[in-house]
Amino acid sequence: MFYLLILLLQMKLIRKIFDLNEEIKDRQELGFIPTMGGLHKGHESLIKRSKKKCKKTIVSIFVNPRQFNRTNDYKNYPRNINKDLKFLKKLKVDYVFIPTVNQIYHNKKLKKFKLKKNEKVLCAKYRKGHFEGVLDVMNRLINIILPEYIFMGNKDFQQLFLVKKYLEKIYATKFVTCKTIRNNNKVALSSRNYLLNKRSIDKAGFIAKQLIKLKIKINYNKENSNLLINDLRKKLSKKFDIKIEYLEARNIHNLKKNITTKKYKLFIAYYIDDVRLIDNF
Ligand code: AMP
Repeated sequence: MFYLLILLLQMKLIRKIFDLNEEIKDRQELGFIPTMGGLHKGHESLIKRSKKKCKKTIVSIFVNPRQFNRTNDYKNYPRNINKDLKFLKKLKVDYVFIPTVNQIYHNKKLKKFKLKKNEKVLCAKYRKGHFEGVLDVMNRLINIILPEYIFMGNKDFQQLFLVKKYLEKIYATKFVTCKTIRNNNKVALSSRNYLLNKRSIDKAGFIAKQLIKLKIKINYNKENSNLLINDLRKKLSKKFDIKIEYLEARNIHNLKKNITTKKYKLFIAYYIDDVRLIDNF
C-alpha cells in the first residue's frame, strides 16, 4: 500500500491543457512520448530513452479518431487505461497526459496538412487521410506540450518520416528515432498484437523471419529485387492465408523505389485475422 502511494505521488495524471500548463513550467529537458495506449515493451524502450536523456518525461495516451480510416478499427483499437497507468507508474514516468477528443481539437486555428501526390505511397496509398490525421494530432500535441525532445519508433517508419518532414521545420523540438523492439520470434511489438491469438502471432513470426532472409537475398541481388519480392509475396499469401496490402523495397531517404544504394528497407502491411500489421526491415 505504502509502495503504491509512493508511485502515485511520483506520477502526475493530467487530463486538461490548463492543468498541463500549470504543472509543467519548464519545458527544457522535457522528453515526450506520444502513444495511443495498449502499452508494451516497444513503448517502454522509448520511455527509457527519454528518462535517460531528459530531466522530465511526459507520455500521452490518445487514440486519435482522425487517423482511422475504418470505424471498426477505431472502435476495436486495444484500450486498457488502468493497465497502462500501472505500466507507466512502474517506469516512473513524471507526467501522463490523457486528453479528451474535445481538448485536442478545440483549437480550430491550427494548420491543416495535405500530403503531396508523390508522398501517397505505402500506408498513405492504402489508408486515405491517415497521415493527414497523424500530422494534425502530432502538430496539436507538440503545440500544447512544447517538449525539447520527442521520442518515436522506427517501427512506424513512414509516420516518423512524414512527421519529421512536416513538423521539424515548425518547432524547435528535436526528434529522436528509436529502434524497433521485437519478441523472440522477431515479431515487432504492437498494440494490435493484443488482438491476435497465439497461432497468428506465430505466423507473424514466420513472416518476419522470411522478410529478414529476403533482405539478405536482395542485398546480393538488387537488380532482381522485384522478382524476389513477388515470389515471397505469393508464397506467404498462399501458405498463411493472409492478405498482403504491400510488400516493397524503398529508399529510406525519400521513400522512392530506387534501392541502388545500401540505404533501403523492406516495407510490409498485411492483414491477419482482419488485424492490420505493418513492419519494416
Ligand atoms: P502507438 O501507440 O502505436 O501509436 O506508438 C507510439 C510510439 O511507439 C510510436 O512512435 C511508435 O513508432 C512506437 N512503437 C510502437 N511499437 C514499437 C516497437 N515495437 N518498438 C519501438 N517503438 C515502437
